[in-house]
Amino acid sequence: MQLTFLGTSCMMPTKERNPSAAYLDYKRDGILFDCAEGTQRQIRIAGLNLAKITKILISHWHGDHVLGLPGLLLTIASLNLAHGVDIYGPEGSKKAFKQMFGGIAFETKFNITVTEVSEGKFYENNDYYLESAPMKHSVPCVAYSFCEKDRRRINVSAISKLGIPEGPLLGKLARGESIEWNGKKIEPDKVTRIVRGRKITFITDTRPNKNCKKIARNSDVLVIDSTYTSELKEKAEEHGHLTALEAAQIASQANVKKLVLTHFSARYKDTHPLEEDAKTAFNNVVAAYDFMRLKI
Ligand SMILES: [Zn+2]
Ligand SMILES: [Zn+2]
Repeated sequence: MQLTFLGTSCMMPTKERNPSAAYLDYKRDGILFDCAEGTQRQIRIAGLNLAKITKILISHWHGDHVLGLPGLLLTIASLNLAHGVDIYGPEGSKKAFKQMFGGIAFETKFNITVTEVSEGKFYENNDYYLESAPMKHSVPCVAYSFCEKDRRRINVSAISKLGIPEGPLLGKLARGESIEWNGKKIEPDKVTRIVRGRKITFITDTRPNKNCKKIARNSDVLVIDSTYTSELKEKAEEHGHLTALEAAQIASQANVKKLVLTHFSARYKDTHPLEEDAKTAFNNVVAAYDFMRLKI
């Protein structure tokens, strides 16, 4: 599982930073979190696969999070893929999407769905599920979690000792079912161990609110709005953003493992002051930069 940051600036693109987008590469899926202007080019520069994108999770409809959608979708549509793209976003997303594409000739059979999400689980398959929670911003806005399901790993030496062959029996054990072997019942706990699923949470843009802690709880990685340092807390309050310290406080309360700051004001050429501000409340922190890759 790899997470690549494609844009780490807030409103204004700078020479070094594009606005909001991140690409999660997981098994057969490419999941895009936000899609700012220029995202498809960032994907190409990063060497990621546009054709793999199956889901786009939009936090809210401010330009620095969505202006790359038309270009990206037109390109994906031209690839003649067997699958479509599912877009998720907060209340009002269907109308906003329609209006955004209103003036663009989009003559294709390519299947795009738009689903409005609010609070709780909104997608699930065998490997993972996706959750959202409303945030506190100037327009409807949601945070997202990608939650991998716990899975059982087969203990190879225990299996070979018992002489159980590869095949459907191992599949049953991996699913947590007991099997019969040589006239004996084998419980899954005897020959497998549970590997905890990984969790990644994206929170942008917002002021602190109770849902931050709730959705970020026990995340392996929390990627979060950190537009200003504490010195500019008034600006954060005025524009509906978090300071680095507030982001760190959420990470600490939510028991996350790693904190990744993003969505920086263009005034920060150097992001060390943001990291330092966060470190007063949470130690394992890094300021994201465009094309930063995290293996999770
Ligand atoms: Zn923003
Ligand atoms: Zn915003």
